[in-house]
Amino acid sequence: MEDVLEVQGLCKRYPGFALENVSFSVPYGYVMGLIGPNGAGKTTTLKTILGLLLPDRGEIRAFGLDAIAQGKKVRSRIGFVHDDPRFYDHLTLEQNAGLVGRFYRTWDFRRFQGLSASFGLPVGKRFGVLSRGNKTKFALALALAHQAELVIMDEPTSGLDPVFRRELLDNLTDLLQDERTSILFSTHITSDLERIADYITLIQGGRVVFSASKDEILESWALVKGGLDLLDRLPSGTFRGVRRGELGFEALTDDVESIRGRLGDAVIIDRASLDDVVLYTSGGAADA
Ligand code: ATP
Repeated sequence: MEDVLEVQGLCKRYPGFALENVSFSVPYGYVMGLIGPNGAGKTTTLKTILGLLLPDRGEIRAFGLDAIAQGKKVRSRIGFVHDDPRFYDHLTLEQNAGLVGRFYRTWDFRRFQGLSASFGLPVGKRFGVLSRGNKTKFALALALAHQAELVIMDEPTSGLDPVFRRELLDNLTDLLQDERTSILFSTHITSDLERIADYITLIQGGRVVFSASKDEILESWALVKGGLDLLDRLPSGTFRGVRRGELGFEALTDDVESIRGRLGDAVIIDRASLDDVVLYTSGGAADA
């Protein structure tokens, strides 16, 4: 499968934080969700892909081009939706769109109008008076009206109420049904991923914990439940995260076969949800 974006060995160091060897790829036409707790390095990763930051090391290829050496060319094919979209407050959406359109040779005003109608955007209103959710939808309509092949969104749903979040995700799902647009978006809301992501990269403390298809993740991770006496006999590092309760333990594993072979009927093995995987691998539960 061809990739629209390949990130390989990305490193960026700040005082007190380092993005370490971040690698993942997004196949053409698919949605990659970049998830991780606050401060994990999601925005730093996206900014580096967009050429807003220069990495210390690593390679980024978009549309088969070197995104660092050919940044301008690459950026003209990317639509970026910021978590706090900023445009001219005193101009209407239509006027703002007219200004933005001048920067893109591929700009299609009719498409902007069509998208605005399907998103329910009040195009005659001033940008400054829009709700937070409509600002995000406007930014998305702009990205799609210049026919971006890859849309990158930094926490597009943060700060949106559940109804608006659902609406935005539904808009995206509709668009993806008949387009070849690829999407990379960051979030810390697991339910966003459940709705629209095909692939998920979990980043934590500047490192990738895993990057795989959603189905693969849900198939390979499991929750193991058993008694505390059993847990105390197991070597540390058996699980990827453990929670002790009064009556027993619950732990995450990505090696179900080996756990089943070793512990057999002494434990119950259940499917893990994405929430479980993110919680346990993000250190939301102590190691055992
Ligand atoms: P959030 O979900 O809170 O937006 P994030 O996963 O997007 O978090 P980043 O914004 O990439 O995380 O930040 C990662 C770390 O890098 C943080 O600890 C942040 O303080 C630090 N950082 C980001 N930009 C700079 C900078 N310009 N100088 C120094 N440190 C920075």
